Amino acid sequence: MKTSNTIKLTSNCRKNQFLPLWVGIQFCVMMLAWSVMVSQDQNNKSGDLLPKAIKKEGTFLIVLGTVQDAGSPHIACKKICCAELYNTNDFRRKVVSLGLLDTRNKKKYLLEATPDITYQMKALKRFEHNDSKETPDGIFLTHAHIGHYTGLMYLGKEAMNADKVKVYAMPKMKHFLEQNGPWSQLISNHNILIHEITNQKEVLLTTSLKVIPVRVPHRDEYSETVGYVIQGPKKSALFIPDIDKWEKWNLDITEEIKKVDYAFLDATFFDGKEINNRDISQIPHPFIVESMKKFEGMHIEERNKIIFIHFNHTNPVLNPESAESKTVEKNGFRIARRNDIFQL
Ligand SMILES: [Zn+2]
Ligand SMILES: [Zn+2]
Ligand SMILES: [Zn+2]
Repeated sequence: MKTSNTIKLTSNCRKNQFLPLWVGIQFCVMMLAWSVMVSQDQNNKSGDLLPKAIKKEGTFLIVLGTVQDAGSPHIACKKICCAELYNTNDFRRKVVSLGLLDTRNKKKYLLEATPDITYQMKALKRFEHNDSKETPDGIFLTHAHIGHYTGLMYLGKEAMNADKVKVYAMPKMKHFLEQNGPWSQLISNHNILIHEITNQKEVLLTTSLKVIPVRVPHRDEYSETVGYVIQGPKKSALFIPDIDKWEKWNLDITEEIKKVDYAFLDATFFDGKEINNRDISQIPHPFIVESMKKFEGMHIEERNKIIFIHFNHTNPVLNPESAESKTVEKNGFRIARRNDIFQL
């Protein structure tokens, strides 16, 4: 954009050679001001600047998106949460996804195939380095809800026509992809190769990276739902982007948090205000206010491991300046932000 503006500016100045000098100068100054405005506008609002490579060697977990399945701004939303984003053309927020990068072994993995996979795959590649290959060495799926797997479509014939990208999926998820179009076509065209994974059984990815699926309770219409434990050479993380209430799980979340260094946990809603003050106990997600209450007795070091993620468009913590964001942080918890990097 900058380049084409410069070209336009030069040719317009040439055309003005026959006008009085001051008109020409005025015109060029106006054009220059306009071109600066355009590029700043793009950087500040819709400009989704891709990241630069991580210079350090090691194993890293990168936040590539933080929003609930439908994204933010949200389709047809007329409320204050999305109005300003539409008005300012701000589409920088991305659907929940993590990237894993092992720079020593030159491998990278995506957790989730979101509708924002086009941006997220490129971002992950750029975190590695500009010349690294476009596709990840594997994609891990949690379940068959739109924000978590439909990005696979971009690997197919109408888009990238990718070559045998490894997709790790649980048995029901694998069966769902194999038996239903358009996903089955990705398999018959060899765009993806599905590797079946088993609950609680580790998948060794590199000498310094392994991933373990863990079943969690959720609305399982088409597939089971898993979270993942990710183990690096020094540190580990738990990733549960979608789960019913903590009490519905056969595992004790506070015990699971003790075993890891970071816990990325479902924080779809902050409190009842987002759902018109309906009874939050009936909505099958742990609300942030419920999780904060559940974890309030934990030592500050344990609370600090908890990083909330998977925010509905209505969730005020999407705004880092909101009172709710400040409350979460004051209580010792963290909020996932796109491009956050954690060394494992
Ligand atoms: Zn979701
Ligand atoms: Zn909204
Ligand atoms: Zn879901």
